[in-house]
Amino acid sequence: MKLQYFGTAAAEGWPGVFCRCEYCREAARLGGKNIRTRSQALLDGRILFDLPPDTYLHMLRDGLDLPHIRSVLITHTHQDHFYPEELGFRYGVFARGVDDTLTLYGNDAMAAALERVITGEGKSREVVDWREIAPYQPIEIEGYTVSAMLASHDRGERCYIYLVEKEGQTLLYGNDTGLFPEKTWEYLADKKLGLVSLDCTTGYAKEGRNHMGVPDVIEVKRRLTAMGCADESTRFVATHFSHNGRLLHHELEAALSPHGIGVAYDGMTAEV
Ligand SMILES: [Zn+2]
Ligand SMILES: [Zn+2]
Ligand SMILES: [Zn+2]
Repeated sequence: MKLQYFGTAAAEGWPGVFCRCEYCREAARLGGKNIRTRSQALLDGRILFDLPPDTYLHMLRDGLDLPHIRSVLITHTHQDHFYPEELGFRYGVFARGVDDTLTLYGNDAMAAALERVITGEGKSREVVDWREIAPYQPIEIEGYTVSAMLASHDRGERCYIYLVEKEGQTLLYGNDTGLFPEKTWEYLADKKLGLVSLDCTTGYAKEGRNHMGVPDVIEVKRRLTAMGCADESTRFVATHFSHNGRLLHHELEAALSPHGIGVAYDGMTAEV
């Protein structure tokens, strides 16, 4: 499995769109891996995680072949993960030669939002379709077995962590998860994970209720290892960083590398 990271920032990007803080100024000055767009990743060139407002930039900058993507897994409907208005450009005169269906998978809030956006004259579900998925009920998508598991995030909707399995390889992909709810730990009990991608929004600060910080990511790794879900061959990567966490890329590396956890950056590829 190959996971390509296109966006590795929290909601406002880093530098934040309107922010004047010293961490945004320093990120802009240093450039490189410190420049982070809104969260998005692609599995094996096929399965896209989230549809943030920076999706088009990822197509231009990173070679995301958006016209040919057919499956998108939405973690939750916060705007930095889900910008459905963009899908209006897959129709009619806006997109020539489209003869297949782009399907979005996610929770009921995603389905309700698409119901609102994909409506009216010519907005056929043969062009953009969606499927609401229930937690802990695996489904098949393009030859992968995909399970949605509950995260601890916005209590107003069911936010999802995705488990994707194919031919003995398993990816856990979470953003905005907090420490996992017990049902999610139970679901993971007999899984062997090859790649684990987790949010690390709050820097050194322990959080766990809505997001994770460095101590929470280390705790999730510890628990997965104690459960036998992860071992030394499992690759851990942290992503979804905020300027409010106040750790630039090299500082995140200093905090996480000693614990065997990699630090994602825009354009990074993780392979297992
Ligand atoms: Zn987010
Ligand atoms: Zn800032
Ligand atoms: Zn969120």
